[in-house]
Amino acid sequence: MRVQVAIIGAGPSGLLLGALLHKAGVDAVIVEQRSADYVLGRIRAGVLEKVTVDLLQEAGVADRLLAEGLVHDGIELSFGGARHRIDFEALTGKHVTVYGQTEVTRDLMHAREAACLQTIYEAADVAPHGFDGTHPTVTYRKDGVAHTIACDFIAGCDGYHGISRASVPPASLKTYERIYPFGWLGVLSDTPPVSPELIYSNHERGFALCSMRSMTRSRYYVQCSLDDKVEAWSDDAFWDELRRRLDRAAAETLVTGPSIEKSIAPLGSFVAEPMRFGRLLLAGDAAHRVPPTGAKGLNLATADVGYLARALAEHYAERSDAGLDTYSQRCLRRIWRAERFSWWFTGLMHRFPETGEFGRKMQAAELDYLVNSTAASTALAENYVGLPLEG
Ligand SMILES: Cc1cc2nc3c(=O)[nH]c(=O)nc-3n(C[C@H](O)[C@H](O)[C@H](O)COP(=O)(O)OP(=O)(O)OC[C@H]3O[C@@H](n4cnc5c(N)ncnc54)[C@H](O)[C@@H]3O)c2cc1C
Repeated sequence: MRVQVAIIGAGPSGLLLGALLHKAGVDAVIVEQRSADYVLGRIRAGVLEKVTVDLLQEAGVADRLLAEGLVHDGIELSFGGARHRIDFEALTGKHVTVYGQTEVTRDLMHAREAACLQTIYEAADVAPHGFDGTHPTVTYRKDGVAHTIACDFIAGCDGYHGISRASVPPASLKTYERIYPFGWLGVLSDTPPVSPELIYSNHERGFALCSMRSMTRSRYYVQCSLDDKVEAWSDDAFWDELRRRLDRAAAETLVTGPSIEKSIAPLGSFVAEPMRFGRLLLAGDAAHRVPPTGAKGLNLATADVGYLARALAEHYAERSDAGLDTYSQRCLRRIWRAERFSWWFTGLMHRFPETGEFGRKMQAAELDYLVNSTAASTALAENYVGLPLEG
């Protein structure tokens, strides 16, 4: 098989890149190690910045998102027993859209199917080769048969544990990492959200987040120990713990129900520099990770893909490599800003046992400043709603 671009990974990065390249007349194939159902079964992000909504519109896959997505003009911060609203619309004139990553993935998959674009699911031993030269290939096995895809470029959209970054010689890569000493225990339930907007709670028992996917499906999280096991958390134990970490009004109105998904996610910050190695370009979680507190993971991934799709389209349509040459630098500027915001917001909202009572007092003072200073609230709002794509 020969294509212009071979994409490794059919998560949101790979699928969106495939859709944008198709619009630009660039021919691409996606190779994914899991089945389509497995990819759709992963419950992850839910808050979309404008940049993500715009790119999905550009790709022609935003009809359902625009009809069903929930526009959120702000969030609430809960601490000291009370809630304080950060009004994005008033502070920045912008908003975010709540629409599950699973739904984004589903819409992209359907559009790909309708356009008869090829995705090879359940591909084993996927590997990129020859990206230092001019004739890269991607090899894989399907049903025991070995295959080779010849291409001009390889897009490594295969997430944090993927093969693309792992195939780069270590000497060509610089990585930065921070692992947090706790995780998030998340529950998805078919219950109405406790409040129309997200509640971020700083509590002495630990952080809690009340989020949602729709007006009938809620997503809740509590900070947990890295030693916790999902099996040890009954639904009742989860709801009790969540209630304890909310203000009284929220705790009293919380509607509980059986969990339809329950999982523990570790929290980490990670960046790999650069993001281009000859004809291999990394995008999304393959190159970086953020703790989910700032809701940046998916949005950073789509922004990378926005730059990459433009750069590849420019390469073919205008015979210019300017976009490819500046790809890494453009993405990394945005990534480090999101890393900083996610690190700061995580530090402000979580319980860090090692910082003790002094650390708690510092958090309380900063939260007080944050909700009483227009400049500080605006900085939070600007970072949360996100930046437009440059250029
Ligand atoms: C548990 C969890 C919870 C999260 N919650 C949030 C949140 O609340 N908010 C937020 O903004 N972000 C969240 N994120 C981050 C967000 O989901 C990611 O940033 C986003 O999925 C990145 O998309 P991606 O396509 O780059 O990577 P992924 O979604 O990881 O997709 C990569 C794809 O590549 C495939 N793949 C991997 N290895 C190979 C291989 N060798 N060959 C072929 N295919 C391969 C994988 O199967 C997968 O389908 C969360 C992430 C996790 C793991």
